[in-house]
Amino acid sequence: MQTAQRKYLIAGNWKMFKTTAEAKALVEEIVQLNGNQPDVGVAVCPPFTALGTVGPILESSSVALGAQNMHPKPDGAYTGEISAQMLRDLYVSYVILGHSERRQYFGETDASVNEKTLAALASSLKPIVCVGETIGEREAGRTLDVVGTQIRDGLKGLTAENADALVIAYEPVWAIGTGKTATPEMAQEVHAAIRKMLVDQLGEAGHKVRILYGGSMKPENAAELLEQPDIDGGLIGGASLKARSFMQIVDAARAR
Ligand code: PEP
Repeated sequence: MQTAQRKYLIAGNWKMFKTTAEAKALVEEIVQLNGNQPDVGVAVCPPFTALGTVGPILESSSVALGAQNMHPKPDGAYTGEISAQMLRDLYVSYVILGHSERRQYFGETDASVNEKTLAALASSLKPIVCVGETIGEREAGRTLDVVGTQIRDGLKGLTAENADALVIAYEPVWAIGTGKTATPEMAQEVHAAIRKMLVDQLGEAGHKVRILYGGSMKPENAAELLEQPDIDGGLIGGASLKARSFMQIVDAARAR
């Protein structure tokens, strides 16, 4: 829910989709449909290869640019990696960290997420830190334990000063790309628990942190999710690959 302290953020995670030409066409349509309305935060996170093309198109718009990962070190002999400074150089302002696909396929841990989160903040990037349980963990009644550990270990060392820049995305792993969505009540329960953990760690500033829901969010279910008191936006995968469905979700946020 949008509050005086928290503006909605709808962010598109394009994953490993879109050539530069396709990215350009998609982002031009998004910018055109979004107009210059700053009331709801909108961001797109294309693959690294398209950042240089998309950045200049966004510069005079109210749509922000995000990346999908980064290396925690500022530079060095890390073949194939990209640093926060390199992202800043390309007009990037958000970076998705600890997405479940990175945890599952690329060995990301809460410790590496923590290192990257601190490095992102130190470079004035806004981290979107992803947390969420697998279906096995949910069925075993361990959702809040699992998410609690990811939050506690992933956010080690953060203080109240980081609250404005920090974004959390609760993404139940079983809902990502599967068409299965957490019910608004299920999602709100976890978001409220995350909010409490944030307030425990950051004090009152924890109320300023935006907590996005991710996992098969689409135009048909966005409104009911976004009306929950602790759901402050969405991290959208599949539905962000077409301008119309992505913007329908933005419009659902705008209508609230
Ligand atoms: C995601 O990858 O962050 C995501 C939420 O994907 P989808 O919307 O396709 O479930």
